[in-house]
Amino acid sequence: MSTIVTRFAPSPTGFLHGGNYRTAVFSYLFARKNKGRFIVRIEDTDRERSKKEYEDNIMDSLAWLGLEYDAQYRQSDLVAGHTKALQKLIDTGNAYISREEAKDGSGQIRELVRFKNPNQRVTFHDIIRGDISTDTTDLGDFVIAKRIDEPLFHLAVVVDDASMGVTHIIRGEDHISNTPRQILLYNALGFSVPQYAHLPLVVDEKRSKLSKRRGAQPLTYYRDQGYLPEAILNFLSLVGWNPGTEQEIFTKEELMQLFDLERVQKSAGFFNIEKLNWINKEHIKRLTIEEQCAYVERFMPSFITTLPHYTREKLLLIVPLLVDHITHFGEIVTLAERGEVAYYFEHPTYSREELFWKDDKDAEHTRQKLDKVIEILQKIPSDNFTAETTKDALWGYASEVGKGNVLWPMRYALSGRDKSPDPFTLSGVFGKEVTLQRIELARQLLLAPLS
Ligand code: GLU
Repeated sequence: MSTIVTRFAPSPTGFLHGGNYRTAVFSYLFARKNKGRFIVRIEDTDRERSKKEYEDNIMDSLAWLGLEYDAQYRQSDLVAGHTKALQKLIDTGNAYISREEAKDGSGQIRELVRFKNPNQRVTFHDIIRGDISTDTTDLGDFVIAKRIDEPLFHLAVVVDDASMGVTHIIRGEDHISNTPRQILLYNALGFSVPQYAHLPLVVDEKRSKLSKRRGAQPLTYYRDQGYLPEAILNFLSLVGWNPGTEQEIFTKEELMQLFDLERVQKSAGFFNIEKLNWINKEHIKRLTIEEQCAYVERFMPSFITTLPHYTREKLLLIVPLLVDHITHFGEIVTLAERGEVAYYFEHPTYSREELFWKDDKDAEHTRQKLDKVIEILQKIPSDNFTAETTKDALWGYASEVGKGNVLWPMRYALSGRDKSPDPFTLSGVFGKEVTLQRIELARQLLLAPLS
């Protein structure tokens, strides 16, 4: 069998959203699965609407996703080939120059190139949708170029796909209606018609079609929010496809082995953020602690990184705790802004009231508990001061006098927050010295006369 060649052919007329990149992912995976080639072609022939900024964003997104390509083209560089094909179509009587009055009411006459439609029924087999048959008579003699050196979409796509040897055209189902016209052009130019796979629509949770204009986020938004590229790749591959098993978390290598077009569904695929968050979290869990830490560092705001006790060593200790509370690394900023990070790097400030467990507002009772906690913790050697040893040491006492009575004020003394990891975990992270310092600070507060 000849080498399979697929392509991703975006128009740089706006930021592309996840649904557009799903097309790229399927084309890429299909090529890799079949040891074929994957081509990127920037379709920038709409000179007014195409922008370099969008093209750069597309290329950045593909690189970030890890969709490495075997060749890259820009359609505006290929116009000579389009012109040659146009000339051939004219010479063979398959196209003609038509002088027509411009539709803008200016009365100007312009020359268009129209395809001479043979008015046939065109039938093609779509790998996903089966046979699709259209009577092309209604399409009339459609326009294929504004001028001989200004080809329009259908001609450019056909000439480029044919000259690049594309064997499988994988694209959104919004292109189904274009396919009969393009097949007519393939036939008129004597090129062999490739195989088609038109992918189902991508819709959001409200079943609305994702669209560049209607606010769907560009892919780089997810990068900038601290999603992992491997998670986005995993997520996009499941929008409209599944491998037929229960497995939902995949590496890129697994996807490259498993992907097939036969299992692409016909019904719309969902771009479901909750599912994306879940998949992202699963991939975060698979990172090493060092890798997680590198991401956390990238997102940690400067009001935290400039705290006097901020060190990477300490950060490494708290990374598992932070990661527990996020689905993507951008949420580190939210955690920090909510005050859930700073206390790891500086002593908290306390509200006296918060030290009391439930209804027992008696300062003396609470202070006694903290006294005892200090006494017990003192006995643990500094070099063995961990979540486990502190828990072992305190558990008996806490069970005896009431866990909340002991563990609540201790935990609050350590974090200064009404929500935080448990006091043993915090003790392990802070070490003996800081743990005891903080409990002592809270104890002092209870001793101080009420003002
Ligand atoms: N450039 C077209 C688009 O962005 C895609 C053309 C194709 O895939 O055939 O919609």
